[in-house]
Amino acid sequence: MQRPDPETKPLPVQARWQTQLAGAIRDPLELCRRLGLDEAWQDGAEAGHALFEVRVPEAYLSRIRPGDPADPLLRQVLPLGEEALPTPGYVADPLAEAEHTPAPGLIHKYAGRVLLIASPACAVNCRYCFRRHFPYEENAPSRAQWDESLEHIRRDTTIHEAILSGGDPLAASDRQLGWLVERLEAIPHIKRLRLHTRLPVVIPNRIDEALLGWLSATRLQKVMVLHINHANEIDDAVVGACERLKAAGVTLLNQSVLLQGVNDDADTLATLSERLFEAGILPYYLHVLDPVAGAAHFDVGDDEARALVEGLRERLPGFLMPRLVREVPGEASKTPL
Ligand SMILES: *Cc1c(COP(=O)(O)O)cnc(C)c1O
Ligand code: SF4
Repeated sequence: MQRPDPETKPLPVQARWQTQLAGAIRDPLELCRRLGLDEAWQDGAEAGHALFEVRVPEAYLSRIRPGDPADPLLRQVLPLGEEALPTPGYVADPLAEAEHTPAPGLIHKYAGRVLLIASPACAVNCRYCFRRHFPYEENAPSRAQWDESLEHIRRDTTIHEAILSGGDPLAASDRQLGWLVERLEAIPHIKRLRLHTRLPVVIPNRIDEALLGWLSATRLQKVMVLHINHANEIDDAVVGACERLKAAGVTLLNQSVLLQGVNDDADTLATLSERLFEAGILPYYLHVLDPVAGAAHFDVGDDEARALVEGLRERLPGFLMPRLVREVPGEASKTPL
């Protein structure tokens, strides 16, 4: 893989994850400058940033080819002027999650499992994110508010799995996460802990001793669903993070979003599945884009999505096939296409 010029990449990606997170690029012009993108990109970057702020840590930046506006990783994080174009059918809350929130930060939509917003923040702001307009302020519970969510879970003995989500749950401190997991595992009907996170991919140092400490200590079965859209996201540091997680007994799965200009061809998706498996991760879901306002330029039509998956089937063993799904508000599960 091509490495960026060390002269222009000062911040060490070896730094503690907290330092890397705090030092993430949050200025659209700096992002353009660091990647050698000319003025033509700068106005769009500022316009998109005004709608949903830029956030890119160095460790992720280091995997982007400088001077290439078509880089599949750059396209996920670079704001564009197109984000400001209103598109019919693209809305602020495409999943209508606001209707399934019995307690602040708790989403109970599917049988047997609940989703907890464990942290409002993310390590990277993905331009296609279906939560780009999420009212995180109303859903960032204090410990007192957590008690309300925990009480909901305690009372409902049909819930067997707690899914920590966000934002990114691993943007929370290990102290907070350890606190929450201790309370979840004290509920007898909870069997599994699931984490939906992109942090081990964006800042692999997040998988450190402190995290492995509480993760190894819990009686719960552990599943981590990573979010990787392109094989270039998996560098040696990510492979190392996955090795540490597997050694701690975590089952690793991956979900991707099908994105125009990032991974919308069968060869790219096949390479992703192969690379995931090399890192010890099984493909789980391939989501079609949720129609969130500002992301219409990433859309791949349903017919094309089905054709891509047929192409994948011709290339891959069955266990490397992600399930092509969409989230339909009101349905009892993700809906296969
Ligand atoms: C996707 C999702 C889940 C998990 O669904 P699985 O099919 O079990 O992966 C749970 N709760 C909510 C609200 C979700 O959006
Ligand atoms: S990491 Fe996930 S939740 Fe955060 S911006 Fe990206 S897609 Fe959205």
